Amino acid sequence: MVITSSIVWLFIFFVAIIVLFYKAVELRIATISLGIGLLVCTIFSNTAGVLLVIFWVFFVLLLALNIPEIRRNYISTQVLKFYKSVLPKISQTEQEAIDAGSVWWDGEIFSGNPEWDILRKNPKPKFSKEEQAFLDGPVNEVCEMTNEWEASHINHDLPQEVWDFVKAKGFFGMIIPKKYGGLEFSPLAVASVMSKIISRSGHLNSIIGVPNSLGPAELLLHYGTPEQRNDLLPKLASGEEIPCFALTGPHAGSDAAAMPDTGIICKGKFEGKEIIGMKLNFNKRYITLAPVATLVGLAFKLYDPDHLLGEKKEYGITCALIPSKTKGLEIGRRHLPPGVPFMNGTIIGKDIFVPLDYIIGGTEQAGKGWRMLVECLSAGRAISLPSGAMGGAKTGAWVTGAYTRVREQFNVPIAEFEGITEPLGRIAGNTYIITASLNTTAMAIGTGEKPAVISAIMKYHATELARKVSRDAMDIHGGKAVMLGPKNYLSTAHQASPVAITVEGANILTRSLIIFGQGAFRCHPFVLKEIAAIEEEDHDESLELFDQHFFNHVANTLSNASRSFILGLSKKFGDSPVVGETESYYKQINRFSAAFAFLTDVSMLVLGGSLKRKETLSARLGDILSSLYLASTSLKYYEDMGDKEADLPLVHWACQTLIFETQESFHQILSNFPNRIIAGLLRFLIFPTGRNIKGPLIETTLTIGNLISRNTSTRDNLCQGIYIKDEPTNHLAIMQNALELYEVVYPIKVEVMTARKKGLIEGQTLEELVAAAENASIITKEQVMQLLEYDKVTLDIINVDDFSEEELTKIH
Ligand SMILES: Cc1cc2nc3c(=O)[nH]c(=O)nc-3n(C[C@H](O)[C@H](O)[C@H](O)COP(=O)(O)OP(=O)(O)OC[C@H]3O[C@@H](n4cnc5c(N)ncnc54)[C@H](O)[C@@H]3O)c2cc1C
Repeated sequence: MVITSSIVWLFIFFVAIIVLFYKAVELRIATISLGIGLLVCTIFSNTAGVLLVIFWVFFVLLLALNIPEIRRNYISTQVLKFYKSVLPKISQTEQEAIDAGSVWWDGEIFSGNPEWDILRKNPKPKFSKEEQAFLDGPVNEVCEMTNEWEASHINHDLPQEVWDFVKAKGFFGMIIPKKYGGLEFSPLAVASVMSKIISRSGHLNSIIGVPNSLGPAELLLHYGTPEQRNDLLPKLASGEEIPCFALTGPHAGSDAAAMPDTGIICKGKFEGKEIIGMKLNFNKRYITLAPVATLVGLAFKLYDPDHLLGEKKEYGITCALIPSKTKGLEIGRRHLPPGVPFMNGTIIGKDIFVPLDYIIGGTEQAGKGWRMLVECLSAGRAISLPSGAMGGAKTGAWVTGAYTRVREQFNVPIAEFEGITEPLGRIAGNTYIITASLNTTAMAIGTGEKPAVISAIMKYHATELARKVSRDAMDIHGGKAVMLGPKNYLSTAHQASPVAITVEGANILTRSLIIFGQGAFRCHPFVLKEIAAIEEEDHDESLELFDQHFFNHVANTLSNASRSFILGLSKKFGDSPVVGETESYYKQINRFSAAFAFLTDVSMLVLGGSLKRKETLSARLGDILSSLYLASTSLKYYEDMGDKEADLPLVHWACQTLIFETQESFHQILSNFPNRIIAGLLRFLIFPTGRNIKGPLIETTLTIGNLISRNTSTRDNLCQGIYIKDEPTNHLAIMQNALELYEVVYPIKVEVMTARKKGLIEGQTLEELVAAAENASIITKEQVMQLLEYDKVTLDIINVDDFSEEELTKIH
């Protein structure tokens, strides 16, 4: 009897603790509540004495935590001492990366209890009239002017008229304010221009990408002196100056801060005058636009051995703008990126002497180059490469959907085979994820956010998903996509997909080191505050701040553990800001956000500094953060866009896939967590009812595959924004016309074939059959014409190019 009663009280006691943590009740209120509970228990129960003593000891300890003096002097002092002894020294470059940019929805996911209003009040995607007119006007025009096959496989360059048009219409100055002659477009508009352009030409997209991403214009805008801005920004906006930015070299790739390139401050002669300047020596490679650049943005390490500027000898990484015609600058030899061999090459400088006012921001900004780069990277990385990924994925979805209808095998369109519809469904779903996340992120950046961690998530996932889309699109097309030639609208983009994977932070590094590594510092609600408290020199101040943040941190961890457990008990538990079809996804994101925050804290506690070296675990923690971000933005985009009925199957697929992937990443981390006892405890709290979330049903994938293989609103909504102008050189328009014709003609074709099967008509070729069908009054004359037209169109689509030996010598 006593034992039964003890178990009941023990159970009640633990449930009370879990509920108090779940509700994140303040320590004082929690203590009072537990005290009252204990009193009741002591008075009314016949609980075994030992258990009661344990309860009371626990309560006294809890009471002690409420007394700041006891807490600070006996607990926080010891913890602070320990942390001071183990906290690794953060290098200046690491610190600058941590400080860069802002924290937005990523911080909410890290908190374990996301405040959905922060995401939901992000503005809906919308263009200004000017932006819309640009997209419908000059962007369409330049697309029509560009021949991707010739640019990429014959000339390795765009025709001069395209270069001139692009400069004249301001494509190089989309991010430059109007007062300097730029277009001053929103991030969404820049992304949409780049996305439409890539749907026509990857070559053109690469060229326009650099001036509108991290490069001289962006750096000048943020850090340039007024003279530099007034002089150079109008020239960059008009295309009079063509910029490039040179950071990478043979010995400085992913670890760009390790560059051996130097600038030594010294006296010398410049334009006939003796001045204090810098002697530059550098060797850069992989630099986009270098072969045609007139203005070279250069990163190097600045030294002042003779103290010509002051006390400092080593300034560190510095950024300068050097005219390409500077004596000693070797520029012009080209690399050939695969698929889309756009302008890219080496830049070498030997003992070049230039004035100090070539430094961006002047000598005041000497040594601050790394900070400039990481700060500017945070916005650019979220826009330029993801917009290429979005345009590429939409194009893949558009052409592949249509191709599966017009290509027939075994007497039916290949779209009728589940083996085809499944990858087509993946194409649709992945395209939706990229589009939703880019639109939402671009709008956030437009409101002033510079989300560093989100930009890494966007860069990695948009490019990886686009590569998956490309692979599926290639496979579905079969031989049609494998044979090179102007009729192949997929293979150049496919060949070029590793470029996006590699640039602006190669993807393996981005996943393994940056997303979670930077996030754990930058987005965590307490870590940075605790570090600042530890580093505070005044001991009392340090202790007070540390005590405050540390105990809030502990309370937050316990609250997240409890939330993770309770929300994991049933999909129905927890709150959602919406009701209806997508409600459960909000709840599941809440649940996994709590579990993620809890797992992050336990991982940092158990693994400490070694978590950074355990890249496989930290990559998977980053995957959880990313999947939760992408699922949230899919929901946000779905709410923002008007056509709920058409888009619902896509948002279902996206959320089910991403939430399933989240679960699987947790599972992999827990299965490989070094401390097995803690892993068991974590699994109990994160998966209290087991690992029971399933990905989308095959049927769901087939549904969205089918939807984009037909002329539906789902297909139109998903692919909106690509270049579909109806003109004879546009493959995308040709595919759409064929699909529209299919919708009308295929039922007639089926009628003819059925008549043949029944023996009502005879014939070998389509011409013979339709003639027979017309004679037998099975179809009308008009239908005959439509059928023959459809046959012609589809034949043109399924045909591939062939070349003579002589022609082949001109193709690269
Ligand atoms: C087409 C193209 C255009 C480019 N344009 C420019 C430009 O305009 N300006 C410019 O300055 N640079 C440019 N780059 C350079 C680009 O930014 C670098 O290629 C990139 O930073 C990676 O450097 P790397 O190629 O030397 O690879 P490496 O640094 O040699 O990396 C090799 C592999 O190791 C991985 N790796 C490295 N460190 C880690 C780690 N700690 N953990 C896990 N994995 C790791 C990487 O992810 C990669 O997979 C361009 C590159 C290309 C290909």
